[in-house]
Amino acid sequence: MEKPAIEGGKPVRKKFLPYGTQSIDEKEINEVIDSLKSNWITTGPKMRLFEENFKKYIGSKFAVAVNSGTAALHISTSSINIKPGDEVITTPLTFVASANCIVYRGGTPTFADIKKDTYNIDPQEIKKKITPKTKAIIPVHFSGQPCDMDEINEIAEENNLFVIEDAAHAIDAEYKGKKIGNISDLTVFSFHPVKNITTAEGGMVTTNNDELYEKLLMFRTHGISKDAQKRFGKSGGYYYDMQYLGFRYNLSELHASLGIHQLSKLESFQKRRREVVKIYNKELKNIEELSIPFVKKDVKHSWHLYVIQLNLEKLRVDRDHIFKALREENIGVNVHYIPVHYHSYYQKNFGLKKGILPNVEWLYPRLLTIPLFHSMNDDDVYDVINALEKVLKYYKK
Ligand SMILES: *Cc1c(COP(=O)(O)O)cnc(C)c1O
Repeated sequence: MEKPAIEGGKPVRKKFLPYGTQSIDEKEINEVIDSLKSNWITTGPKMRLFEENFKKYIGSKFAVAVNSGTAALHISTSSINIKPGDEVITTPLTFVASANCIVYRGGTPTFADIKKDTYNIDPQEIKKKITPKTKAIIPVHFSGQPCDMDEINEIAEENNLFVIEDAAHAIDAEYKGKKIGNISDLTVFSFHPVKNITTAEGGMVTTNNDELYEKLLMFRTHGISKDAQKRFGKSGGYYYDMQYLGFRYNLSELHASLGIHQLSKLESFQKRRREVVKIYNKELKNIEELSIPFVKKDVKHSWHLYVIQLNLEKLRVDRDHIFKALREENIGVNVHYIPVHYHSYYQKNFGLKKGILPNVEWLYPRLLTIPLFHSMNDDDVYDVINALEKVLKYYKK
């Protein structure tokens, strides 16, 4: 049997393969240079074009660009006026940003457990967590697979709750033929470099609601009613009125320059992601020590992440050892996510502890994300498969 690198063997590859990364080409680079040479580098025409193209792509009435996905979440919870005393239900299996945006407003996050097949928030568990203080639900489309949106929106309607979809993973995803970004009150996207498209840092909120749209614009720039560019022009006046305590979250022209071109390449990026997933599914489905991702029939998965589940019952070592062994093979595996209620901040401030959410707690020690991004070539893909086969075979019971 071949020895894993961590046991003194030769690694499967020489160069480290990350779990996700951006690809930027000449078009984007030239567009950024064009902005740098122009007289307008902060929010301007390119940001507006990016918003225009984005809402056309989603099919939503409005799109509001901001400087991170976290900012997009924050202006969303602000636009629906989450305030101290309010409770908002979200999933424990997410990046902390999905819950932090509740806490920024002084609200209380409540975690509803996940489903064991899709790893998405379970609508039945949401029902159990609703109290008279509940104001909103933030479902997260884990890894790019849409949540059960019909059930979630039905619960929201019955209880008069807002729904903010965290679609940081789910650009290009569809639920029952409908594009994500066009279903609930608000939907949030992220353009961090590991996401399916990038602006270096950036985010977007889509909505079909006129009133929420106006508020999102205000919270984006200090709660000020007129945008800065109008004030700077020859015909612009000086007067503006601050109506809310807003933020400084607008996206610069440099970042928007990237976004315009990345969005136009999304389709080709996604095509390649799906090819990689097809190879993974075919080659990994027969390895007994792991399970490949489950995909529901009524969704289009956007494949932000490829998350396998380790079958610990068939292994002599735990996930953390498998993780280290694969890193030694130069395969950039990762773990998505440490459950939010495990973080000390959440435990200290919200009285949360281990043991309250059995499904996510069962799953967490079994989770492993393997590399998936659009610029992976077939050799990269087979390196991942070979490293998994080698390591799992070696540590098999
Ligand atoms: C990336 C991510 C965010 C935050 O986006 P940033 O652009 O990094 O601020 C929020 N939620 C989820 C689920 C994410 O993966």
